[in-house]
Amino acid sequence: MDVGRDPRTIGITSTIPVEVVFAAGLAPVDLNNLFMTHGRRRSLVAAAEAAGFPLNFCAWIKGIYGACKHYSIQRVIGVVQGDCSNTHLLFEILEEEGVEVVPFEYPPGRDASRLKASIERLASTLGTDLASAEASRLQMQPLREKLETLDSMTWREGRVTGRENHLWLVNSSDMRGDRYRYETELDLFLAEAAGRPANHAPLRLGFLGIPPIVDDIYEALEQRGAQVVFNEFQRQFSMPGAHRCIVEQYLTYTYPYRTALRLADIKEETAKRKIDGHVHYVQSFCYRQLQHRAVKKAAGVPVLALEFDRPGRLDGRSITRIEAFIELLEARRLRAVKRGQEGS
Ligand code: SF4
Repeated sequence: MDVGRDPRTIGITSTIPVEVVFAAGLAPVDLNNLFMTHGRRRSLVAAAEAAGFPLNFCAWIKGIYGACKHYSIQRVIGVVQGDCSNTHLLFEILEEEGVEVVPFEYPPGRDASRLKASIERLASTLGTDLASAEASRLQMQPLREKLETLDSMTWREGRVTGRENHLWLVNSSDMRGDRYRYETELDLFLAEAAGRPANHAPLRLGFLGIPPIVDDIYEALEQRGAQVVFNEFQRQFSMPGAHRCIVEQYLTYTYPYRTALRLADIKEETAKRKIDGHVHYVQSFCYRQLQHRAVKKAAGVPVLALEFDRPGRLDGRSITRIEAFIELLEARRLRAVKRGQEGS
């Protein structure tokens, strides 16, 4: 798909009820993914800085802006409640520069009737309705179940790597603009992965927080003997679990609401997936950094916070911190094994 020229293209900057977009016959394009798949993503950040975005400002916002301009995206759905204030200002700038911004709100307090009204407004603006979006949701349910299978093949079977899990789930926000093709490609991937040997590394890690802006973090963890078996927000983007309707589905989504909902999800998955420790990715200049205290307290296992600013590869200091963290987890694991042997 030639994103800029295709009149069906509509950019998104965060996960929204994508069923509405498909019901309207449009092609969603997640600008975060467009930014990260661009061959020279630093140049998109640099373009935003040249346009006046400050150096000490979230690079995701600059990358989204750069991608929007580079691909000449004309229309964007903007989450004006339930995402950060930086994105609100981004929408003002885009509107000033001629991009049509369609607002969408996740209501504070997870109010079901307000969320329903918000989805209805979005549907009406895009030329469809709630019933069509619901029909679209039901059609997409088998695809979402396959994403759960992929996730299960990551943490139960070890046939899917943490990086593969990250890429498939992060792409579920827009289904790469074409849900049918995405599903066909997913079918092929699952068939190939099913034929792999099971791989269970001694250390099991979770990856918390927003998707990373750096390239090689999964490799750095997995090459050192740890297996990433949980990608928190990426899994949220895939809308796991059974829901009775579209409103319930987007009420269960933890990203836009209070931290407590996130913590409950992290605690449940940490126990279920037998996770030894978490890496909590925090973006420089992001308000979500403040959530680290609560995440660390609630996780029940050691948590390493890693902060990065712009696209690129891991720096030496971060690699040293990762190595020290893995050594710590390994020592804890061996102590637990020893205790188990002494107790038996
Ligand atoms: S990383 Fe934080 S500041 Fe940047 S766009 Fe995401 S939520 Fe906003």
